[in-house]
Amino acid sequence: MTEEIITKKDIRKLKLEELKAFFVAHGEKPFRAQQVYEWLWQKSAKSFDQMTNVSVATREMLKTHFSINHIHVDQMQRSEDGTIKNAVKLHDGMIVESVLIPTEKRITACVSSQVGCSLACKFCATARLKRQRNLNPDEIYDQVVAIKEQSESLFGRPLTNIVFMGMGEPLLNYANVVTAIEKITSPKGLNMAAKRITVSTVGIAKMIMKMADDEVKFNLAVSLHSALDGVRSSIMPINDTNPLSELADALRYWYQKRKKKVTYEYVVWKGINDTKKDAEALLTFCKIIPCKVNLIEYNPIDDGEFQQASDDKLRMYQELLEGHGITTRIRKSRGKDIAAACGQLANKTVV
Ligand code: SAH
Repeated sequence: MTEEIITKKDIRKLKLEELKAFFVAHGEKPFRAQQVYEWLWQKSAKSFDQMTNVSVATREMLKTHFSINHIHVDQMQRSEDGTIKNAVKLHDGMIVESVLIPTEKRITACVSSQVGCSLACKFCATARLKRQRNLNPDEIYDQVVAIKEQSESLFGRPLTNIVFMGMGEPLLNYANVVTAIEKITSPKGLNMAAKRITVSTVGIAKMIMKMADDEVKFNLAVSLHSALDGVRSSIMPINDTNPLSELADALRYWYQKRKKKVTYEYVVWKGINDTKKDAEALLTFCKIIPCKVNLIEYNPIDDGEFQQASDDKLRMYQELLEGHGITTRIRKSRGKDIAAACGQLANKTVV
């Protein structure tokens, strides 16, 4: 079975035009290709046999040429707070994780963009897996579909938001992430609004500029964690080659082109970035372009090197920022009991 899947071409790698050309070459009408395409994307068919308005002969013909490499939710864990973590198996056996986060008003899908991650942020569990490979657009899309289905079947509510805050660095798999988002937002796909989608990045300056040039419609979040180069470099090695001054320039460019606020994600750690000086540096950074700040709770990843700062320190940050008109939220973790929270995604079955 596995061998069969790998040797046949994945039909979702074909663009609609290519599928039409294939149909014509096999003596079929082009509109049949359109029908199949709708099954593949809009209706998220996992097998050719689901395509009931396509003749059995055509389905058999498709089966001899193609596979549908749909992801498979291998394991689903539910947290006490309602959060669901999916271990998602890819066609080559690799595993990524995606999370459904329910709140009163929203249901958010947190999806992965890579198997593992190359960035080596010291506080993040995914970093320990190293980067194995990029996800294909359909593998990203399928995670959203799986969570959308869970949202509807388990909560009776629609999926409202998507955040690229799972495993991996989305801007290092930019083309595939953008293709997936195009499908997610297309009326021929899931028809979700781009303004409900947020891509979170470690802050790769040249890719933020590319996003601005491409006039993407989704939101940008940057995992900042420190606005002081020395501190940031000590916890996020990317900062050595991509310092805050370059990030600041890229953000200015983003705002100039897109006129959209950025969200900064920021964890306050005891003894690392919990002084007034750290908070003031963040305040200065926040003046670069309109922004809001999410102070996110630290989710320990076992070694004790990093510890969440006290509530007093969080309040010190919040008061300073809010005092200068910057919306600052303190975000409590979700799904901690099932290791589904930020930075905890590191499925042990990944090799
Ligand atoms: N690579 C992207 C996407 C990952 S998002 C990025 O860096 O933005 C995951 C978010 O969780 C990031 O903001 C990351 O900095 C944060 N994070 C990582 N490890 C964490 C941990 N142990 N506790 C809390 N947040 C963490």
